[in-house]
Amino acid sequence: MRILIVEDEIKTAEYLHQGLTESGYIVDKVHSGLDGLHLVRQQEYDLVILDVNLPGLDGWGVLESLRRDSNTRVMMLTARGRLADKIKGLDLGADDYLVKPFEFPELLARVRTLLRRSDQASAPSVLRVADLELDPGRHRAFRGDQRIDLTTKEFALLHLLMRRSGEVLTRTQITSLVWDMNFDCDTNVVDVSIRRLRAKIDDAFQPKLIHTLRGVGYVLEARE
Ligand code: CA
Repeated sequence: MRILIVEDEIKTAEYLHQGLTESGYIVDKVHSGLDGLHLVRQQEYDLVILDVNLPGLDGWGVLESLRRDSNTRVMMLTARGRLADKIKGLDLGADDYLVKPFEFPELLARVRTLLRRSDQASAPSVLRVADLELDPGRHRAFRGDQRIDLTTKEFALLHLLMRRSGEVLTRTQITSLVWDMNFDCDTNVVDVSIRRLRAKIDDAFQPKLIHTLRGVGYVLEARE
């Protein structure tokens, strides 16, 4: 699950980034409305957390532009608790509205509710390739009837490989889809993570599902 934070107050943005990352989300953050719009057009997000008071293009402007061509969930943040603002936000297509100051657990609870809602609407529930099974809703993985324990990153990586099963993914693609944009892009990390994932889902099983294309990347598929 990938979240974008658009918030000009550095401290608030950092606080949200840290909390949401620790909760298992992939989180990007930008400090202006234009950067936010730019990223939303480049990258798919499950949720945008959008501050209303931004310098230049404000949160309303971002929301309006975004709604012309995107259904991404949007949670507005504002220092103003006026009913008129709330109505304006909902009219422009915001999915939720949170007044500052707020406690992080409240934000997290709302984020989870919003993402669950979009999950039910769009995401296929359980993914299967051969006898490998991944249940994103319950955050569980099985190979045959053996339960596999995965870290948050391993889970995100496996989810990606299974969603795009049969498709070769380059290290750069994997990095950009599983790690956030501020991640120091050492593609070696992808190899290390793939090795760990293989140890859990492939080493003790047949057939092998993760395949390396030397110099290109990785693909997950059942081969005869
Ligand atoms: Ca602000």
